[in-house]
Amino acid sequence: MNGKLYLCATPIGNLGDVSSRSLETFKMADLIAAEDTRRTLQLLNHFEISKPLTSYHEHNKHEKGGYIISLLKSGKNVVLVSDAGTPAISDPGEDLVKLCIENDIDVTSVPGPVAGINALILSGLPTRRFAFEGFLSVNKRHRREHLESIKNDTHTLIFYEAPHKLKNTLNDMQKVLGGGRKIALVRELTKIHEEVKRCTIDEAVEYYGENNPRGEYVIVIEGATEIEEENDWEEISIYDHVEKYIKEGIPQKEAIKKVAQDRGLPKREVYSQYHEI
Ligand code: SAM
Repeated sequence: MNGKLYLCATPIGNLGDVSSRSLETFKMADLIAAEDTRRTLQLLNHFEISKPLTSYHEHNKHEKGGYIISLLKSGKNVVLVSDAGTPAISDPGEDLVKLCIENDIDVTSVPGPVAGINALILSGLPTRRFAFEGFLSVNKRHRREHLESIKNDTHTLIFYEAPHKLKNTLNDMQKVLGGGRKIALVRELTKIHEEVKRCTIDEAVEYYGENNPRGEYVIVIEGATEIEEENDWEEISIYDHVEKYIKEGIPQKEAIKKVAQDRGLPKREVYSQYHEI
């Protein structure tokens, strides 16, 4: 009979967050596959658990995946842990899950901390609908394209970021998403220096222009708002812009005045373009 893969969450900074079920799961495992074996060894040592460990990370996931599957097929139970938090969230765990499913091997989870969800609930931003965006690319063009692709998304947006990349990322967010949006920079969750900075993107850029980011960060940003949606006129003609207001019940004269204000144009220019004079 095949063994089972256990996706086991571990603390994201505070050892008190380890669950009794995850400790039991470690104890019954035949092997623990860890993204960072040194970090996992510290955790196991702290709880006086001794188990064989193997590394499973981005750079060895192909060969290690096959090895782990062969162990599972021989009836061994394998526990997968991320370097912190929940495996398969922004780490190669998702590939191992896929491989298990393809090989008819059972997968189960032992839930626990996830940095993104804890940052979201502390952000003060809407939690009802959110989108997890993970890490942005280190490549500037890809990072901008990613942000462009979500700039009209109305969900609250969650990003993971390394401290040395934070300033560049905030600059790109300011350029693509605009500086007025609310942002929460959630750092060092569950640790002594846990901190949530709630401000606008402009203020965050200014703050980190003068202060160096330290520790691990989750960035939470409010989704596109109706104010930005109102700026949809940038994509439409003056005629359609005036018509848009008229359809909202605004009289034609007033609509022309509003369009002139929105676009920073003289009223007569909007009037003549609308009437094709
Ligand atoms: N699997 C993890 C989870 O469940 O959240 C995330 C792993 S991902 C490789 C690591 C990133 O998670 C960090 O770069 C940071 O953005 C975020 N992170 C992890 N621990 C954190 C903490 N204590 N405080 C803030 N962010 C944290």
